[in-house]
Amino acid sequence: MTLDNDIETILWNEDQIANRVSELANQISGDFKDTATSSPPIVVGVITGAFLFLTDLVRKIKLPVIVDFIRAESYGAGTESNGAPKISCDLKVDVMGKHVILVEDIVDTGNTLCRLIAHLKLKGASSVSVCAFLDKPTRREVNFELVGEGKYYCGFQCPDYFVVGYGMDFAETYRNLPYVGVLKPEMYK
Ligand code: 5GP
Ligand code: MG
Repeated sequence: MTLDNDIETILWNEDQIANRVSELANQISGDFKDTATSSPPIVVGVITGAFLFLTDLVRKIKLPVIVDFIRAESYGAGTESNGAPKISCDLKVDVMGKHVILVEDIVDTGNTLCRLIAHLKLKGASSVSVCAFLDKPTRREVNFELVGEGKYYCGFQCPDYFVVGYGMDFAETYRNLPYVGVLKPEMYK
């Protein structure tokens, strides 16, 4: 029995992911090069889903950065957001007057990002950017607004499938797949 057997389709393989992550890191390195030395951006990974993306991304950013994590929970064991994410594990570092880059695995309805951006704004971040590995624009219920000079970076636009791998789970499994794929229908039973 291997995890790979449960996957019906691979949407992005390891090489495609690595190439895109490098491109995103280069964009970020360019955009923050003037401010990073005096005020390193705080790269905030939204756990658990963004853990692999964040570690790959920061290793390709050629500037000083500060790394922290935040946890927002909106999903039970199923595949539908309950629409009211709560912050169950907050930041360690103080973001007051700092540039924050929120790193997300996937933007779906937009509820999680809206909640997190509002939280960072309240804590006084001078800008909030978002770097999402995947974005499902067709599923959006609420539009998020970046803070200050914040920018939006996105790895790939994702079709409206429930995807797993590269940090993303189904019932806490499949996060360690090195690629992104769609499960065989029988796996949801
Ligand atoms: P939103 O609040 O935008 O609806 O949902 C964001 C969160 O839902 C993501 O950070 C991710 O954890 C989860 N999510 C949304 N779509 C998918 C998906 O296709 N697969 C997995 N594994 N998680 C998803
Ligand atoms: Mg997430």
